[in-house]
Amino acid sequence: MAAVVSNFRCDILIIGAGITGAMMAERLTRQGRDVVVMDREKPCRGSTAASTAMLLWEIDRSLSELSVMIGFERAARCYQASLRAVNELMRLVGERRLPGELRSRQSLYLAREDDSRSLREELEQRVRAGLPGTFLDHRTLLENFGFARAGAILSPGAAEADPVKLASGLLSLALSQGARLVHGDAVAFDSGKASATVGLDSGHEIEARHIVLATGYAMPSIIKPTIHRVASSWAVATTPQPQNLWRDDVLIWESSEDYHYGRTTADGRIIFGGEDDEDLIEPEARDRAIPDKSRRLAAELSALWPRAIVDFDYQWSGTFDTTDDGLPLIGPVPRAPNIYAAYGYGGNGITFSYLASELIAALIEGRSSPLLDDFAIERSSPGHP
Ligand SMILES: Cc1cc2nc3c(=O)[nH]c(=O)nc-3n(C[C@H](O)[C@H](O)[C@H](O)COP(=O)(O)OP(=O)(O)OC[C@H]3O[C@@H](n4cnc5c(N)ncnc54)[C@H](O)[C@@H]3O)c2cc1C
Repeated sequence: MAAVVSNFRCDILIIGAGITGAMMAERLTRQGRDVVVMDREKPCRGSTAASTAMLLWEIDRSLSELSVMIGFERAARCYQASLRAVNELMRLVGERRLPGELRSRQSLYLAREDDSRSLREELEQRVRAGLPGTFLDHRTLLENFGFARAGAILSPGAAEADPVKLASGLLSLALSQGARLVHGDAVAFDSGKASATVGLDSGHEIEARHIVLATGYAMPSIIKPTIHRVASSWAVATTPQPQNLWRDDVLIWESSEDYHYGRTTADGRIIFGGEDDEDLIEPEARDRAIPDKSRRLAAELSALWPRAIVDFDYQWSGTFDTTDDGLPLIGPVPRAPNIYAAYGYGGNGITFSYLASELIAALIEGRSSPLLDDFAIERSSPGHP
């Protein structure tokens, strides 16, 4: 990755070479655009490397909750777009035979408390929105999957991946389609009518017709989101235990605001995460909490799946920002013409990265979408339902 050693101009500059930047670069070079991707680190070292990479189309806010916040029509179109995004990403990866160990999976949305009625109501809303899924009552869930919860929604259309391999594969494809990858740290931004300029810490400048910010959780100060919350998440991977995995390698997560999430891996491990915390943000403090958070994850995993041997080979933490409505921040940056934001937060970060690549590519081509209102950077907080 060559460092920027002189000022230059390009058509599109993408800042950030994680999974979002890689998807953006692939999409835009496929459209025949001249693309430069810049990162201050090696590619795919940010939150992409920490991701448990469950590619859910179900959003952190249930359709019922989101409908109360923004209305059923809008909530339904966000869910439909999310479902389509996972499907289209699967198709792209299949057609281009990309690495990334992307596998189609069902998801199991488990009742957290003794309350299965809210899940039945959630499924009714989903059916009304044309979304797939089946309700499993306690007995059926226990018999078919072995989870002793009050109920669950079983849905098709999700996927799992190796996030670093997937991002690297997409980036390599973008490079083969003409993108260039450079090393540089963006520290200042300026926008004009016809272009935007980024200043680097080296003192150099890059002028681009369009700049896309795909900087993950390192958000430049020109972005002033109103509904964004900074948090951290912790995850563990057990030792291989193929004999102890749950049926069909379903992706599991819970119907609560601070949910736990889990999946199995091809080499027979269980990956389990959660214990999100808005008070432990600094990387050192976050990492110091790993032993304690891992103990809590072990207790939650044992309670949920008593067959699991809770010996961990890997334990890690990462930034896991969220928004009040569970939707991403995608679209034009207010007051900064020609600069776009691609921030897919929460448990669907990667699904939203794909949507960002579609929506911003369309914007650059002069097309819009009602989803850009739903994902607007400075949308007002809908409040909790
Ligand atoms: C523990 C954990 C579990 C998760 N699980 C899931 C999950 O199961 N499913 C899911 O969909 N999502 C999940 N996520 C969220 C998901 O990982 C993120 O949404 C996704 O990785 C974001 O990718 P990104 O490319 O936008 O950001 P990043 O991967 O963080 O990449 C941003 C890049 O921008 C670069 N950069 C930043 N600032 C600058 C600058 N000023 N100049 C130049 N370069 C810069 C960084 O160096 C970095 O390489 C999880 C996250 C965590 C932490």
